Amino acid sequence: MMNGKEYIESLRKYKPTVYFMGKKIESVADSPILAPHVNAAAMTYELAHDPKYEDVMTAKSHLTGEKINRFTHIHQSTEDLVKKVRMMRLLGRKTGSCFQRCVGLDALCALYITTYDIDQKYGTDYHERFKEYLIYVQKNDLMAAGAMTDVKGDRSLRPHQQADPDMYVRVVERREDGIVVRGAKAHITGAVNSHEIIALPTRAMGEKDKDYAVAFAVPVDAEGVVMFFGRQTNDMRRLDGDIDCGNAKYGTVGGEALIVFNDVFVPWERVFMCGEYDFASELVETFATYHRQNYGGCKVGVADVLIGASAAIAEYNGVEKASHIVDKLTEMVHLAETCWCCSLACSYEGFKTPSGAYMPNLLLANVTKLNITRFPYEWSRLAQDIVGGIVATTPSELDYKNPETRELIEKYLKGKADVPTEHRIRMIRLIENLSIGAELPESMHGAGSPAAQKIMIARRANLDLKKEEAKRVAGILPDEDYQRVRGEEKKE
Ligand code: SF4
Repeated sequence: MMNGKEYIESLRKYKPTVYFMGKKIESVADSPILAPHVNAAAMTYELAHDPKYEDVMTAKSHLTGEKINRFTHIHQSTEDLVKKVRMMRLLGRKTGSCFQRCVGLDALCALYITTYDIDQKYGTDYHERFKEYLIYVQKNDLMAAGAMTDVKGDRSLRPHQQADPDMYVRVVERREDGIVVRGAKAHITGAVNSHEIIALPTRAMGEKDKDYAVAFAVPVDAEGVVMFFGRQTNDMRRLDGDIDCGNAKYGTVGGEALIVFNDVFVPWERVFMCGEYDFASELVETFATYHRQNYGGCKVGVADVLIGASAAIAEYNGVEKASHIVDKLTEMVHLAETCWCCSLACSYEGFKTPSGAYMPNLLLANVTKLNITRFPYEWSRLAQDIVGGIVATTPSELDYKNPETRELIEKYLKGKADVPTEHRIRMIRLIENLSIGAELPESMHGAGSPAAQKIMIARRANLDLKKEEAKRVAGILPDEDYQRVRGEEKKE
């Protein structure tokens, strides 16, 4: 297993093509714009070496028996699922940000299950092929970016109906030694600072979409892969110093990128689905369930930091005992812990798939994520309420550091006399970072937008059973248990 430093060093061996603000980034490991994201991902490596966290951060590979980073582990029990979300809360709390590595983990788990099922139906050998790849990832402790969301073009049309056939990633050539793929994946978390990209289909497919039903893995610097690192709110503040960013060490959300596959060759040993369109929806649903399970872990870890920041700023302002502040902080805790309950519940209610891997409960994982499309907006609103309007009006770090103006800002931005002004400014900026930036849309759309969760919840709601129960309670259907209790059973 690599540690954090070794992970950063390992990125130097890769030469991905990454563009940002009209320029090519020469070294992902050394770019000041990418540094916070690299640091957040590095924590997934570093904490695995801390004996305090060993139990949640590491696991035993079911394939090799070796100790591995849990971010490369296929869950072998519900306990593994629970440890996964505990690991996410821990890392969310440590970084106050997205640490990115979960998408690749979830892609690995979804492929493990789906390749097994494809082989059962078609007699293919995807699962064995995938296991070889998995061992390679585990042994080298690699970080993989899970790339699912296609750019989609006209959303009302299926992949094969698009005016431009490249709106969904597709196979453009089948060769003896592999396939050639073309298309693009959008909003891909941690892509530029990963070692591998694992691409999966983004939706259910029909027979005519056969060429789009493709799953594969390539190194981030495979020939033909071009990435565009996305802009984020206040990203250029990173170049001014470490105060205005709010979270200079670990950034905001995952550092998403648009990945273009410009006729990329993929050897067969790295192809895990090719044309089995009837398994595209299983793969999507399985991946989505794993990723939706996470959000009551990672986002709640981040909420821990925001709640702490809100409590600290209340103290710095001298209002920590005001009853409305106590009430708002309590409300924030209640919202966050409700989401945590959801992540724990869907993990404990997980089940074994035919492949042997465990999956979270599908209904509860979707409930977890749907709550995350709402509750972070509410806990952010409460944080903004507590911090006050200054969250949007604080003078810049550059003015604060300017010897000509520093004294004035020191004097007039002071809260309680014994709290340094800089601490107050830093806490305000942290609340700004966590409640105004990309964190919120990420909660809304990461792992699928709310409508996607509602579809899954509606499918698994089992309304027929609920109607039956209602009819029984209302006296429309017989209630045998009641009749037994009352000695009213029918005599034969
Ligand atoms: Fe992991 Fe959460 Fe980031 Fe998704 S949003 S990659 S689950 S930290």
